[in-house]
Amino acid sequence: MKYAIFVLVLGIACACRNDQPATGNGDQPGSADSLFSAFENSFIDAYWKQNPSAAIYAGYGKYYDILKIPDAASVKSDVDFAKHYLDSLHGFNYASLSANNKIDYRILENQFNGTIWYSDTFKQQEWDPSVYNIGGECYEIINNSYAPLTERLRTLSSHIAHSDAYYAAAINMIKQPTREHADLAVKQNKGSLEVFGSMLQDSVKASSLTEVEKDTLLQRAARTKQAISTYADALEKMLADKNFAFRNFRIGDSLFNQKFKYDIVTDYSAKDIFDKAVASKQYYHAQMFTITKELWPKYFEGAAMPADTLQAIKMMIDKIALNHASPEHLVDTINKQVNDLKRFIIEKDLFAYDTTTPLKVRIMPAFMSGATLASASLTGPYDKQGVAYYNISDLTKIPKAEAESDLREHNNYTLQILSIHEAMPGHDLQGWYSNKSRSMVKAVFGNGAMIEGWAVYTQRMMLDNGWANNAPEMWLMFYKWSLRECCNVITDYGIQCLNYSKEDVVKMLKYEAFQEDAQIAEKYHRATISQVQLCSYFTGATEINALREAYHKKKGDAYSLKDFHEKFLSYGSAPVKYIGALMLGE
Ligand code: ZN
Ligand code: ZN
Repeated sequence: MKYAIFVLVLGIACACRNDQPATGNGDQPGSADSLFSAFENSFIDAYWKQNPSAAIYAGYGKYYDILKIPDAASVKSDVDFAKHYLDSLHGFNYASLSANNKIDYRILENQFNGTIWYSDTFKQQEWDPSVYNIGGECYEIINNSYAPLTERLRTLSSHIAHSDAYYAAAINMIKQPTREHADLAVKQNKGSLEVFGSMLQDSVKASSLTEVEKDTLLQRAARTKQAISTYADALEKMLADKNFAFRNFRIGDSLFNQKFKYDIVTDYSAKDIFDKAVASKQYYHAQMFTITKELWPKYFEGAAMPADTLQAIKMMIDKIALNHASPEHLVDTINKQVNDLKRFIIEKDLFAYDTTTPLKVRIMPAFMSGATLASASLTGPYDKQGVAYYNISDLTKIPKAEAESDLREHNNYTLQILSIHEAMPGHDLQGWYSNKSRSMVKAVFGNGAMIEGWAVYTQRMMLDNGWANNAPEMWLMFYKWSLRECCNVITDYGIQCLNYSKEDVVKMLKYEAFQEDAQIAEKYHRATISQVQLCSYFTGATEINALREAYHKKKGDAYSLKDFHEKFLSYGSAPVKYIGALMLGE
């Protein structure tokens, strides 16, 4: 279940609101579909009970008091749980289900098989110490106002009652960690100590807990801090030991391919996607050079173009990047952009989207700031508010030089691509359709490759339909942006399967993808602690483009882009492969 949790934590499991009667989709009582819906409802509740920490992140509202002790028995119970539900699932006749339930069936089947594989074969629980950390879920209980504060603190008190047993089991479980994940676990767990510091003290003061309850909670918090420190110390001791035999962080070809299959859910092999990414990189370079030659006299009148094509492209990118918004006007600029984008998709008849739907551009809340310039916040599976946000970092609050570098990276051209990707018609619009599809299974187990693939797909689709009027500067920046997605694949697969060295990766990202040093350092680090996720953007988009082509062929003269979009998005955040099977007729 690790990857389901990962998706939720990243907040990309855009999802549906739980305000519909659970089985009320008009099925005949006793029909295969109504039985299947009843099965799904009882499974989802059992799933959260089995994974109480994930329930907290999803905002389910139940089982928050439980902290599962991560010992061998709990791993076995996860596997038994998956096997039990796999059996129940196989009791349904797939052919007799509705299209939407067929997709759910296959999502669940993949989820159960994935859980078994993660526990029995991948065994991340034995080599990734960063999977053990209760800071995030405790933070959610303290700060997420799903219930009155006093009640939340009582829940927290129960949740951390056995935190010492939790961390003792964790250290027991770690057989041979990788250095990279041990290092990450130390940093993240030390970060978690903050959750039990002054913020908690303030909350306790503001609550109406009894004195006895307060004492108990604060004692348990102190014990939790002690347990976290003991865990971090044990890992630091390994890290300091020159003779300690760490596991290689590279998972290798065989595990990578299997993980690719469970996480992405696609008929492409990882190697297929790697080859396509390498070909795309070459294609982008060729296109960029053509544009650079064309624009050269306009931007470098009288100056000779360097013989090295990549260097010439780099000079052109740097020149065009000087054209950017000021920190003070960034939010206004983006607000206007989003409105223009909404108008454009209606004018061009690309979607039947209700443009009065709430989508708010806002300054990024403090707890999520620092990592990226912008992000999308979608409504979670149990969020009844239903407002999507496009979050923008407040660049007036950071040093001028840093803001300048961020703004060159997100200049007047790439900023438009960012708004397409994060908001319109990328993540926020897709999230809106996903809500409308009202499928809890697809919301909870949203497919990251579909979600990211969609946002990437829309970037080119918008330019192809005339956004930015084919300005060569826009295309040049679009290709630069797209190099990031294909180089994500090359980096991930290269490091994990082809033994690429750090130097190989840094050289490629710097000279062939034109990235900044800070960005490169972050990407390399991410590629050492995650696997497959970096492939999801490019793979998802590749699949959507292939599906669109096949759908066009099937529909012939009756094809329209709007019809493709409406149909594709109507299935919710399901793997492209499953949606494709239904759109093309199984
Ligand atoms: Zn500037
Ligand atoms: Zn995205």
